[in-house]
Amino acid sequence: MKKVISVSLGEIVLKGRNRVHFENKLVHQIKRAISDIGYEKVYKEQGKVYIEGEESDFEDLINRLEKVFGLVYISPCIRTDKNIDSIEKAVLKAIEEKINKDSPKTFKVETNRADKTFKPESPKLSSDMGAVVLRNIDGLKVDVHNPETYIYIDIKESAYIYTDRIEGARGMPLGTNGKGMLLLSGGIDSPVAGYLMARRGVGITAVHYHSYPFTNERAEAKVKDLAKILSRYIGDIKMYSVNILEIQKEINKNCPAPEMTILSRRFMMRIAEKIAKDNNIQSLITGENLGQVASQTMEGITVTNDVVTLPVFRPLIGFDKINIIEIARNIETYETSILPFEDCCTVFLPSNPVIKPRIKDIEKSEELIDVEGLVERAIENMEVYHIK
Ligand code: ATP
Ligand code: MG
Repeated sequence: MKKVISVSLGEIVLKGRNRVHFENKLVHQIKRAISDIGYEKVYKEQGKVYIEGEESDFEDLINRLEKVFGLVYISPCIRTDKNIDSIEKAVLKAIEEKINKDSPKTFKVETNRADKTFKPESPKLSSDMGAVVLRNIDGLKVDVHNPETYIYIDIKESAYIYTDRIEGARGMPLGTNGKGMLLLSGGIDSPVAGYLMARRGVGITAVHYHSYPFTNERAEAKVKDLAKILSRYIGDIKMYSVNILEIQKEINKNCPAPEMTILSRRFMMRIAEKIAKDNNIQSLITGENLGQVASQTMEGITVTNDVVTLPVFRPLIGFDKINIIEIARNIETYETSILPFEDCCTVFLPSNPVIKPRIKDIEKSEELIDVEGLVERAIENMEVYHIK
């Protein structure tokens, strides 16, 4: 008898012949998430992944596993030999532990037999084990419709017995759906956008724009902190930090003031795309949300979108702010996001930004500055951080 942690996989179960590839990615992500805690072994067995480790580490291990995308349920379980005697002992041990923890009054046994050669069949094993529990433990009744606890028995290469199923983060294993360049500001939205795309399996690289020395170092430190919080879910993040002060000054000097925000946003998109293409990253990700501010009108988004060819994912486009904040709180980026450091966008913020920009007008304004040269110099001078 040995305690192990089982994790059950979500949508990847449906992926047919890609399944092995997905499972391997998931095992990789699991190992990454728990490597500093330490474990003995991670192995696959008939549709589930199992983790062996010190029982005293289980709480920490589960805590990390809860942040790994692609997991549906996480269960501490007892692994034992596949014979009735051992299963009986494990079932009694599992229910005794459960009673000590949550004192349920009713239970139901549920068996899942991946090994079809094992006898008896599932319903019979469930009722046999139910009878064992009733014989040995006082004050517990069977309730097949609404039990306060389940006793799960999985018959695979070994037998696994458990009572708890902890909800995982779901989604798809990281790295199974391409890569995205996240435009990461210090705000509330973009970290949430990155999280949501990562949960669909997209590997995340980040780019941040600042206007140092007009914005201070603490603003950059804040964004690094946000990337660090995201890295709890997705592992190390590469973050490009790009100074756009020269660009903003040029726009400020030469172009109509109301176009400041939209023009700098176009530069952000251009630079992000250039870095993305140089690094085999196939998409851009922003925290844009329709109608939130002047640059996020339908027209504003059309104009910023026009300078890039990569697909731009805006997972928050239809969200209400209150829902975005809810996710930000859940993933623990909110408190950092609301720290009051100036963002580069507020440095030259126009008092009367254009709300319905037209591509023709904006392109005309850009003729007044050296767009290509500015982009090139910004990229030449950028810094790269590896956030762990
Ligand atoms: P956020 O909360 O993400 O800052 P926001 O509601 O403040 O979003 P904007 O400031 O208009 O919206 O920015 C829209 C999107 O443009 C952001 O979600 C982000 O993806 C990108 N962006 C804006 N400023 C920066 C920046 N300084 N560095 C990187 N990306 C940025
Ligand atoms: Mg912002």
